[in-house]
Formats: sequence, structure tokens, C-alpha cells
Amino acid sequence: MRTGINHLFIPGPTNVPEAVRQAMNVPMQDQRAHDFGALTLGLFADLKKVFKTTTGHIVMLPGSGTGAWEAAITNTLNPGDRVLMARHGMFSNLWVEMAQRLGLDVDVIDLEWGAESPTADFARRLSDDKAHRIKAVFVTQNETATGVTSDVAATRRALDDANHPALLFADGVSSIASIDFRMDDWGVDLAVTGSQKGLMLPAGLGILGVSAKAMEAAKTSTMRRAYFELSDQIKNNATGYFPYTPPTQLFHGLRKSLDRIMAEGLENVFARHHRLASGVRAAVHAWGLQTAARDPAFASDTVTAIRTPDGVDARDVMRIGYDRYNCSFGSGLGPLMGKVFRIGHLGDLNEGMCLTAIALAELSLHAAGAKVTFGAGVAAAQTVYAATPTTAARLAAE
Ligand code: PLP
Repeated sequence: MRTGINHLFIPGPTNVPEAVRQAMNVPMQDQRAHDFGALTLGLFADLKKVFKTTTGHIVMLPGSGTGAWEAAITNTLNPGDRVLMARHGMFSNLWVEMAQRLGLDVDVIDLEWGAESPTADFARRLSDDKAHRIKAVFVTQNETATGVTSDVAATRRALDDANHPALLFADGVSSIASIDFRMDDWGVDLAVTGSQKGLMLPAGLGILGVSAKAMEAAKTSTMRRAYFELSDQIKNNATGYFPYTPPTQLFHGLRKSLDRIMAEGLENVFARHHRLASGVRAAVHAWGLQTAARDPAFASDTVTAIRTPDGVDARDVMRIGYDRYNCSFGSGLGPLMGKVFRIGHLGDLNEGMCLTAIALAELSLHAAGAKVTFGAGVAAAQTVYAATPTTAARLAAE
């Protein structure tokens, strides 16, 4: 028996605001009714604002981020196509594995887990590829396993500098709607996210941004697909309908979460994530610990992966947090298992929640054998939070 709430500090699924949960509590409805499209057309329009695209299509697929990845690949590439990818954490690794399983010829750049996407290496390989054998470049904008945010715009510049026509794929699963993402400005052709992170919904939707160039590539792509055929989706979506039974409850929740994001203001949402993350990073510094992110300039505003000191198993920290304090932290994945635990700080979150995460991490680290001074991390984060106006204060002043 547990009392109180379970403190959910994993980097997705994130906390679903009460208003969003209530918005999903609606009766079933006729997804072919003449007025159904009004709901979904509004969602497509607002998701375009979140993806910052006016020229691309938005596609909402039942599934999750992984399904959207698969749809992105199978609709635009051809078996045996050469693609350029970097592996620097579990999610970029899973993307590499998927591409290989789907029959692509993957040129993988293996990096330390905690490194950022290797823009200079991408640039060199693209400019060397005079025959344009590389058909796509993949960037994981936010590597959730290591808490590293990479520079998607820099990869676009590398493509442009090399005058290279490859498609640009971006994984924005743990960044879109929390960290700035600019599909049109950055010339992203396939942008992927899921419903359960910055959009503050349960898992269940994979969401894709698809450029006009990607749709052009789809016309000649011979990879096999059926349910995830984007042209069927886009044709039906034009009037707000779907080529299958769509998850209407999630759409109602999405309507509410987009309303909240728009009311706060997208740029304010990004600023809030940055401020909250800065407090968490200050706490890690005050504990004398390191983040998995190799270079602080690339530290993520949505998740921080914290290396435990030698001799302290990060699994113990998480286990203690969960069993004693009813608090979930994210685990270390793959080779980082036992070496890091993660604090997810994205979605519906405020200062008090981050301070709770930090205080419970201190208790859990201490109980697992780490030498941390109680209150050190909390005080460091409070110092950051005290120095900047909160979103609540700013919104009240407006
Ligand atoms: N990419 C990143 C960066 C992720 O963080 C995740 C999940 O956490 C995925 C892809 C996979 O998404 P999903 O679990 O929604 O299938």
C-alpha cells in the first residue's frame, strides 16, 4: 500500500495534467460524422505551429514514436539505400537497428554514449559523397538516454554546404513541444514525436511532420508498407478523417494539451523547460556529480542523466527512490545501466516538482551510499529558480 502520489520523474510518459485527463473522459463518437473533422483539422493546424511548419503535412498515427520512425523510413526510402546515422545513446542505437532491420545500408558513426550528434563528421561524409549515394541523414535531436540535445540546424547547414540532396530525418520524440524545433527553418523532411512526452498525453499517438520533398520521395519509394501508408493518411486527413478507426479520446486530450501550450506560449514553454533544467543541473553540480552529457553546451532541457559515484549502483538509487519514496526516476539504458539514473523534467512541470525530484534524489543517493550533503542540491536549484520569474508569475502579470 502506498500513500500520496507517485512522483513521476521519468522522461516519458510524463505527467498528464488533470484538465487533459478530464478532456479525454468523453463518450465514444462517430468518427465518420459530418462534424468530426472540425476537431481534427484544428489539431493538425495547431500541431503545425508546434512543429513550426507551414509547408509540411502533420500525420497522427496510432502507435508511438517508434511506429512513426518506421512510417518515416518505409514511406520515403528504398531497400538498400545508404543512410548516415550516429549512435550515441539508446534511442539513436534503436534507430540504427530499425534501419538495418528494414534493409537499409547504414553508415553508422559510433560515439561515446553522452556525445552529441557529430555535425563535422556528417559534413565531411556528405561533401565526400559526390555521387549522392547517401539518401538520408538522421539526427536524434534529444537523446533521452543520455540527456543530450543535438544541433539539427547544423546538420541542415552541412547538407546545404555540400549541396547534398539527402533527406533530413529528426527524432524529436523527447524534444518537440518542450525544446525549440523548427521543421521549415531547418529543412527537416521527416520529424518524429510521440504523444506521451512534451504533449502531456498518454502514449498512443506517433506524430510525424512530413515535408513536400519527403512526399515527393514517397512517390517512388518501394519499401513495403500498408497501414502506415502516408499518402492514404494525408488524403483522408485533408477533410479531418482517417483511413481506419482513430483514437478519438486521445484527440480530445490533445486538443486540451495544445490549448494549454498555446495559452502558455510555445516560447514560454521552452523557457520554462530551460529554467527548470538549469535548476536540476545546478543540483547535480552541487552534489559533485557528473552528467552523462559530455559537453554542458549540449545538456538537454528535458532530461538529465546523472552518473553515480564509483561504487554506487544507479539501480539502487532508483530502487530506493521507488520503494521508499514512491518516486520514479529514469533508468540507465544499455551500457549506462547501473551507472546513471535520469531525472525527466518535461511536460506539465513546475519548480516545486523539480525541487521534490532533487530532494528525493538526495535521499535516494544517500541511502545508496553516495556522499551528498542534504539540501545542497535543493539549495542550488532554489538559487536558480529564485533568480528568474516563473511562468506562473509571468502569466499572472500578463
Ligand atoms: N526516440 C527517443 C528520443 C525517445 O526518447 C523514445 C522513447 O522514449 C523513442 C524514440 C521511442 O518512442 P516510443 O517509446 O514512443 O516508441
